[in-house]
Amino acid sequence: MKTHHITLIPGDGIGPEVIDATRRLIDAAGVRIAWDEVHAGASVFRKGIASGVPRETIDSISRTRLALKGPLETPVGFGEKSANVTLRKLFETYGNIRPVRMLKGVPTAYSGRPIDLVIVRENVEDLYAGIEHQQTPGVAQCLKLISRKGCEKIVRLAFEVARAQGRKSVACATKANIMKLTEGLLKRTFEDLAPDYPEIESWHIIVDNCAHQLVKKPEQFDVIVTTNMNGDILSDLTSALVGGLGFAGSANLGTDVAIFEAVHGSAPKYAGKDVINPTAMIFSGLMMLRHIGEFDAARTIEDAIEVTLAEGLSVPRDVVGDARAAGTRAYTDAIIANFGRQPADVPTRQHHPIRMPTFNPDPVSVRPASRSTIGFDLFTEFGGQPEALGPILENAASGLGCRLKMISSRGTKVYPPTGAMTDYVDQWRCRFTLDSPADDLNLSLLARLLAAVESAGVRWMHFEKLQHFDGAPGYTKAQGED
Ligand code: NAP
Repeated sequence: MKTHHITLIPGDGIGPEVIDATRRLIDAAGVRIAWDEVHAGASVFRKGIASGVPRETIDSISRTRLALKGPLETPVGFGEKSANVTLRKLFETYGNIRPVRMLKGVPTAYSGRPIDLVIVRENVEDLYAGIEHQQTPGVAQCLKLISRKGCEKIVRLAFEVARAQGRKSVACATKANIMKLTEGLLKRTFEDLAPDYPEIESWHIIVDNCAHQLVKKPEQFDVIVTTNMNGDILSDLTSALVGGLGFAGSANLGTDVAIFEAVHGSAPKYAGKDVINPTAMIFSGLMMLRHIGEFDAARTIEDAIEVTLAEGLSVPRDVVGDARAAGTRAYTDAIIANFGRQPADVPTRQHHPIRMPTFNPDPVSVRPASRSTIGFDLFTEFGGQPEALGPILENAASGLGCRLKMISSRGTKVYPPTGAMTDYVDQWRCRFTLDSPADDLNLSLLARLLAAVESAGVRWMHFEKLQHFDGAPGYTKAQGED
């Protein structure tokens, strides 16, 4: 029998208890694993390691390519990143797979309904790249970065998950109606690639309606692929449909590395009390077993969980309340005692290995035949009205080969005035167009403009080129801009 080498991170708070339950079940199912136990999270932050992930943990995962991870506490404050996000990004685990399924014996508002769906959440891009700047003392920004390459990876992974689990449809949930370039890129990529999977039905849904439909009629969904933040929110919603965070497992999958963890956090108030529901972590462990090809052991454990919950014998406190609940260890013992039993009337899903898509490592995934620069947006700080700022910028641009087209306040055109009832803040996006479009921006034009703007008492933070790729604009218009 094969021995698997896997990194084990017990985690913070309730982490060690849920990891212990999962490990006991895997051992009891006869899977041979050489665990390499290392640490990350609170104890590491306390040692002064700002990432929360020490070298030996990185080395271990680099070696084993697999990790089972308990929840890690994220310090609330400044400067320190989440150790969870650091791990996902360090190993480019670009796909976060979050399945939920209705379980007999777990009472919810949806009990008895055939809910069985998977959220496939992009895991490294979007607002969670965490690229934030304080633009003015009162205005902050967060960059929402979405790449064609990242979209191709997550879309293909979603279809491969559907194939591996014999699922019939993949829905792509985006906010492409508002964020046409970023969220729209996922929609367009999805529509481009879906024909490669003709046996799977594909459809697009606007993400807010997706949330509404998930509450109204969750049975209609099979796989949902979505961007990072949308997926974070939707997957907490879907976990609530089937009993809450105590039942939500997840896998972070990348081309080279896979990290398995519960969706929930370290729930510090329950730490060490033997009251927490370990099912979410155990489900993550089952995803890990299937990832390493241990399908029979995963089925044995899953069946035993179904039997245990359906019989309502030893279920955790978040299901039946504190008074009747078994402890975490007793619940785990009950599952082990039910090994070999099959749940009645529960449809069995056949799992196959997920065929991880392969990608060209070239950083350039789109090569346009042509591109031109038609202008730039300059982001400025100014404490007055737009009617005062406009003429300052028009004067600064005079004779330089560019002209002020408009100024917007938080996306709405305010100069030249449109009559919009916009409330102003001290940050302005000032759009300049070049008298003649060029291959690229003329640096001396820019330098002279910035000097003139500064000497007129207007601060600037950054500028963004306005480019056309293959004739199509690579920027959006402000509300009210013609
Ligand atoms: P949390 O730890 O997930 O706990 C929130 C609530 O969810 C708990 O109070 C409990 O609700 C319920 N819950 C969580 N796990 C459960 C389980 N296994 N069984 C039953 N109920 C469970 O979220 P948080 O309090 O916002 O975060 C605590 C820390 O965890 C923070 O430092 C956060 O950054 C971190 N975190 C880590 C991860 C990760 O490692 N991937 C994910 C999320 C958060 P009731 O009290 O109502 O029973």
